[in-house]
Amino acid sequence: MLIQNNYSLRNYNTFGIEALARYWVELENAEDFQKLILLNEFEKSKKLPMGGGSNILLSSDFDGFVFKLNDKSLIVDDSDPESVFITVGSGFDWDELVKYTVEEGWYGLENLSGIPGCTGACPIQNIGAYGAEVKDTIVNVKGIYIDTGDFFFFDNQQCNFGYRESVFKKNLLGKCLIVSVTFQLKKKGQLNLTYSPIAEAFQDKNGLTPANIREEVLQLRNKKLPDPKIIGNAGSFFKNSAVGNTKLKELVSSYPAIPYFDNKDGSYKIPSAYLIEQCGWKGYRVGDAGVHQNQSLVLVNYGNASGQELIGLAKEIIASVYDKFGIRLEIEVSIV
Ligand code: NAP
Repeated sequence: MLIQNNYSLRNYNTFGIEALARYWVELENAEDFQKLILLNEFEKSKKLPMGGGSNILLSSDFDGFVFKLNDKSLIVDDSDPESVFITVGSGFDWDELVKYTVEEGWYGLENLSGIPGCTGACPIQNIGAYGAEVKDTIVNVKGIYIDTGDFFFFDNQQCNFGYRESVFKKNLLGKCLIVSVTFQLKKKGQLNLTYSPIAEAFQDKNGLTPANIREEVLQLRNKKLPDPKIIGNAGSFFKNSAVGNTKLKELVSSYPAIPYFDNKDGSYKIPSAYLIEQCGWKGYRVGDAGVHQNQSLVLVNYGNASGQELIGLAKEIIASVYDKFGIRLEIEVSIV
């Protein structure tokens, strides 16, 4: 286990922000972590567990330990006639996992194709796209409490999943390291065509497979979303917004074209991308920080933007959306 000092995190966050970690450690397995917590320096320092770095914005250098678990194990339990259970190490690349399950013909993860990051990060913000959320396939999550080194197993309920939320992003934020995730996928299942771009892509819905959905999702994402390998970004920077009935009526009377979706819980989802676009931010650029030209929910780093510059831009966007619509946007990425 190698501990490196003043280590650049630029290649470890998809925003491509330059920031230094006082100490950087890559862990091959959970046992390595047990060795790390025995170090005096580790106990005294601030700690930041890192996954694929695809949902964080580094606001400055990190004066403490940044550590990443590389465990790429994959255990398949195929004994059930209807379902397959797979337990996947935290460091397994998310899209490689989706590709593998789709090639096996298993149902459940196909709508979540093309999302950057590693498997250990997927429960943290309950990743979601095209009408699917990963919570619907998660059986349990194994992790370690950073302070004590004790293991925990949370079943789906204990993860307390919500829209881009979980216990790992709330009470346990920065306090645990996710070791592995167990998923239940269906051997024969139903495809999720609830989102119109997906449904519209298939005139003939007979004989569709998870592989067809994956292919379509990858195409749609490529058209709209910037590839972090080419241009720094962390996917959706803001969450979608939710309003009550009274507020919705007010918005529709002022902006008849406003899109909305019934959350079936008394609230209505308003795509935040629409609100940002209406305030004129789509494609905006200041220095190397900007709003993506095809999807205004995504903030981008054209090269050398700092975390502070992106935070400054986000604050301006939040203020202008609030002024125009009376809706306060919430940030989805974790700011460190
Ligand atoms: P889109 O399909 O053009 O839809 C625009 C917005 O409307 C999305 O935010 C989506 O909400 C919502 N929406 C569309 N159809 C819906 C339905 N049938 N029921 C409820 N809500 C509906 O969106 P897009 O920008 O191309 O994104 C497609 C998908 O990729 C979305 O699910 C989006 O969340 C996901 N995505 C995720 C990230 C990320 O970083 N996590 C980044 C970009 C896009 P939802 O966002 O709640 O699904």
